[in-house]
Amino acid sequence: MIEALSLQPLPAEAESLRGDVRRFLDEAIAGMSAELRARSWLGFDAGFSRALGSRGWIGMQLPEAYGGGGRDAFARFVLVEELLARGAPVSAHWIAERQSAPMVLRYGTQAQKRFFVPGVCRGELFFCIGMSEPQAGSDLASVRTRATPTPTGWRLKGQKIWTTNADHSHFMIALVRTSGTPEDRQRGLSQLIIDLKTPGITIRPIEDLTGDRHFSEVFFDDVDLPHDALVGAEGSGWEQVTAELAYERSGPERLYSSIVLFDTWLDHLRATNSDDPAALALAGRIVGHTATLRSMSVAVTARVGAGASPMTEASLVKDLGTELEQFMPIAIADAIATARAAGSHDVPPALLRTLAYITQFAPTFSLRGGTREVLRGLIARGLGLR
Ligand SMILES: Cc1cc2nc3c(=O)[nH]c(=O)nc-3n(C[C@H](O)[C@H](O)[C@H](O)COP(=O)(O)OP(=O)(O)OC[C@H]3O[C@@H](n4cnc5c(N)ncnc54)[C@H](O)[C@@H]3O)c2cc1C
Repeated sequence: MIEALSLQPLPAEAESLRGDVRRFLDEAIAGMSAELRARSWLGFDAGFSRALGSRGWIGMQLPEAYGGGGRDAFARFVLVEELLARGAPVSAHWIAERQSAPMVLRYGTQAQKRFFVPGVCRGELFFCIGMSEPQAGSDLASVRTRATPTPTGWRLKGQKIWTTNADHSHFMIALVRTSGTPEDRQRGLSQLIIDLKTPGITIRPIEDLTGDRHFSEVFFDDVDLPHDALVGAEGSGWEQVTAELAYERSGPERLYSSIVLFDTWLDHLRATNSDDPAALALAGRIVGHTATLRSMSVAVTARVGAGASPMTEASLVKDLGTELEQFMPIAIADAIATARAAGSHDVPPALLRTLAYITQFAPTFSLRGGTREVLRGLIARGLGLR
């Protein structure tokens, strides 16, 4: 599949990793159903993450001094696209590796870097992101969870929502108010690293439309945290969170959420020797779009690797990527229905179950990591149009 999408070669050193990752996955996810693989970065498997960590495949782009691989952003790109294209269960370490460890390296103290980053790279420390609140999703500047200074550190009160993997993670990096009022907006916000075993924290999983429970509500009821829970400077939470969102929006994962479904449908077309021109045209259209977006994602990766923070470009790739990810289940469902109407009744149940899952989950693609409307606002601003 990836070969069909590669309009331009990646650096040879990065490409040399691809074969090893494929051989590893051949064994590690052998026999896993398409329906489970379709979950991929919602598939939680701590053992799988530890196995990746033991091969040096978590934090490849992070400094060797902190347990990382010291490789460039393209090596991580190759690894991530192989994991996602196969639907490997990467959720356990995903946020820690993509966002939390880079955040701690950028803003944390020496002690925080030494404590957290090696554990993330071994696939042993899992993080979640505490940004959204019931009244503050897109409008993060209005968060109300408050940390008040105490002689020993901070006392935390408030609530987060939609926190992916809160119930399986060791730590949360939360955006909270440390001074002022919600009306002060961006001023007075800070980021805290919260040990989720601390007394006073209640985590309640939320069931989504598909029946999965990957995110939670998290309640902080006078939770006492030490001074060194603060990461970065007090009052700099807004700038830090903006940088964190750039890590979140710039990767290849914003193209591949429906790729296991696409692959499973292609297997079905091959198995039935389909020569349906409409189905073949649709397959070609999806490959063409994905290949173009992959090129854009590679270009964003190059900019990030060079130390830039290409927010407009990353938002554009995420917005166009989620359009394609959401188009795939609709178009594939139409193609299957058309084939059935023409007399083809041999659609494998595994394909239909995968289609049902992606169809139910697809609306979230343009919510998580920033909604479509908010991203389009950012793009317009980046282009000087508002
Ligand atoms: C699968 C999934 C996982 C998630 N994981 C996490 C997580 O781990 N941690 C975390 O903190 N959050 C997480 N979220 C929450 C996610 O970031 C928020 O849902 C998102 O930011 C939108 O916030 P909201 O739900 O409050 O919607 P709102 O902000 O209330 O938006 C509602 C609607 O209004 C539109 N809208 C809002 N503001 C504007 C505007 N200024 N201009 C135009 N339109 C606007 C939005 O586009 C949307 O359509 C997750 C969400 C999902 C679906």
